[in-house]
Amino acid sequence: MHPLLNRERQKKAKDYNTKKHLWSLITAVLEFTVLICALVFHFNIILYKAFYGISPVLEYLIWSAVIAAAAQTVALIPSFISGYFLEKEYGFMKQSIGSWFGDLGKGLFLEIVLAWIVLMLFGWVVKLSGMLWWAVFAFVLFLFQGLLAVIFPVLILPIFHKYNRIEDETLTTKLKSVLDRAGLKVLGFYREDSSKKTAHDNAFFTGLGATRRIVLYDNLIENYTPDEIGAVIGHEAAHRKRNHIVKLMFVNLIETLLISLLIQFFLVRYYPEFFTGGTAVLPALFAVMLIFGAVSAVLQTAANYLSRRFEYEADMGALKYTGNKESLMSMLAKLADRNLSDAYPPKWVKLFFLSHPPVGERIEYVEKSNN
Ligand SMILES: [Zn+2]
Repeated sequence: MHPLLNRERQKKAKDYNTKKHLWSLITAVLEFTVLICALVFHFNIILYKAFYGISPVLEYLIWSAVIAAAAQTVALIPSFISGYFLEKEYGFMKQSIGSWFGDLGKGLFLEIVLAWIVLMLFGWVVKLSGMLWWAVFAFVLFLFQGLLAVIFPVLILPIFHKYNRIEDETLTTKLKSVLDRAGLKVLGFYREDSSKKTAHDNAFFTGLGATRRIVLYDNLIENYTPDEIGAVIGHEAAHRKRNHIVKLMFVNLIETLLISLLIQFFLVRYYPEFFTGGTAVLPALFAVMLIFGAVSAVLQTAANYLSRRFEYEADMGALKYTGNKESLMSMLAKLADRNLSDAYPPKWVKLFFLSHPPVGERIEYVEKSNN
């Protein structure tokens, strides 16, 4: 183990992550099982017949609500254990049960609204482009994700947290100088009141165009040196500078195109009425979701591989923009210890679960680099 890491915390991290992965696997299995059962027992046909003929807008809304509510109900116990109980057991949870369920309710509402929009787009695209729906829909979804990225920091984040501009000039000057070296400009530094809900630390770039900004958890501001926070921002700046997010969005687009084409072959054979327009797309929806979920879970492994490579590039970028190897290494070790990320996870965990390389490997990579 690297000497910067804390043995006790890392031992705890192993337990914490084993339990977290177990519960996320259980959730995935439960959700797949329910979808398969819904198909086997023709719940899609029952639902379709029950609401057929009312206005299409309302019909799409009912389907979105049923699907989102069913998914949340199925995952309720695992997500309570993983999201509340385990967080409390390991000292991260700062919310009351009531406030946690409040957030769950807000999340459900948001899910219904988003599912409704996507579902209406889906129906509309099939109606207008028929057999070519799969190509058009992949692009429409891509554009919708871009729009979401723009509105995310101003409309969605404030539902769950309060944001204040960071006034501390020593810190913002430091961060601006890192961004200057990267040749980036953001339109503001914000402090999120995370400590009211969690003891985890984080920081991220968010928004697109006129809404682009940097958000720091207050936990991060309180517990890290300005140089360490500079290293976090250097890392995030490198992601932006090298267009990692845009590249991953394009990989996602190709993935959506491939899966949609696969679904197209399936629909032609099993759901020919899908192409007749109107809300006839709805009975096929569960099957579409099932194929989409299963194939993208497999493809996620490949996307994770790419994402891990981007993380190494971002660490090298952080080194270049800050010129401070010690702070980058101590920041990585502190993040892993405080957030309980396992610095040396089993190989299979890395392969299937991790979008970031294990911190042990990252620290070593930075240490050995010649920058
Ligand atoms: Zn990163």
